Amino acid sequence: MENSGSNPLEKRLQERLEKILFTREEICSRIADMGEAITNEYSGQPLTVVTILQGGALFMADLIREIHLPLKADSVSVESYDGTESTGNVTFLQNRMPKLDGRHVILLDDILDTGRTLSAIRRRFLTECSPLSVKIAVLLSKQIERAESVEADYVGFEVGNEFVVGYGLDYNGEYRNLPLIGVLKPEFITVRILFFSLLRDITGQEEMEIQLPEQTLSISQLLDNLFTRYEGLKEWDQKLLVAVNCEYASRNEIVQSGDEVAIMPPVQGG
Ligand code: 5GP
Ligand code: MG
Repeated sequence: MENSGSNPLEKRLQERLEKILFTREEICSRIADMGEAITNEYSGQPLTVVTILQGGALFMADLIREIHLPLKADSVSVESYDGTESTGNVTFLQNRMPKLDGRHVILLDDILDTGRTLSAIRRRFLTECSPLSVKIAVLLSKQIERAESVEADYVGFEVGNEFVVGYGLDYNGEYRNLPLIGVLKPEFITVRILFFSLLRDITGQEEMEIQLPEQTLSISQLLDNLFTRYEGLKEWDQKLLVAVNCEYASRNEIVQSGDEVAIMPPVQGG
């Protein structure tokens, strides 16, 4: 393959890819185009580029070197929870907001998915930081219906609704250093299931990993899957308590690759 990794780690990571969507060369050339468009548009203006960590770090590093203008660079760090709430929930991991008053801002992220992250950050910039304007640049844009009405002004590539890794995008914290963007083989996309208390006796184990048949599935689908493996679980069905990444979850909550799902018997007594 043309893009086979040049070192053992890269090779190992690439062997876990089902397909490569964009090679390093394609990414670099697209970012150069984006940099040129931004250079033309912001010439003579006070520009600050703000990236979202961690995913947007590599994109930032490459993009700002293709913007041939004086500029300032800053970052924000957020954590987003993809719960069932339609508003989503984006927590800022820092107290200090970037200094943006009197500046045109381009906000960067690796990928625009539901739009919650970018829309929450943009809203906060506009209400608290008095920028002259805020535009959005993303390396990738997923072709899905957004939860928030936010679109990017500069887009590197459109991608379908699949889970991609590489070039800053992680799966469980790994793969960010892959120089290309690809899709993981399904056998590497799993959720971890933890059983508690007497459920350990029923299932004979404390934890397991299961492969996701689709990109995502609901808790009730996940439980159905477990009931076919462990018949003894089924009688508990509606009484089981389920938490996804340490937060209690309802039956229609969606689990995604990399999630940790804890399954507990109902709380006894008072
Ligand atoms: P949004 O708030 O738009 O739903 O999500 C944006 C964030 O979700 C991105 O910054 C990224 O961290 C993560 N994300 C969304 N889709 C993908 C994907 O396909 N792969 C990876 N690795 N992260 C994703
Ligand atoms: Mg991210």
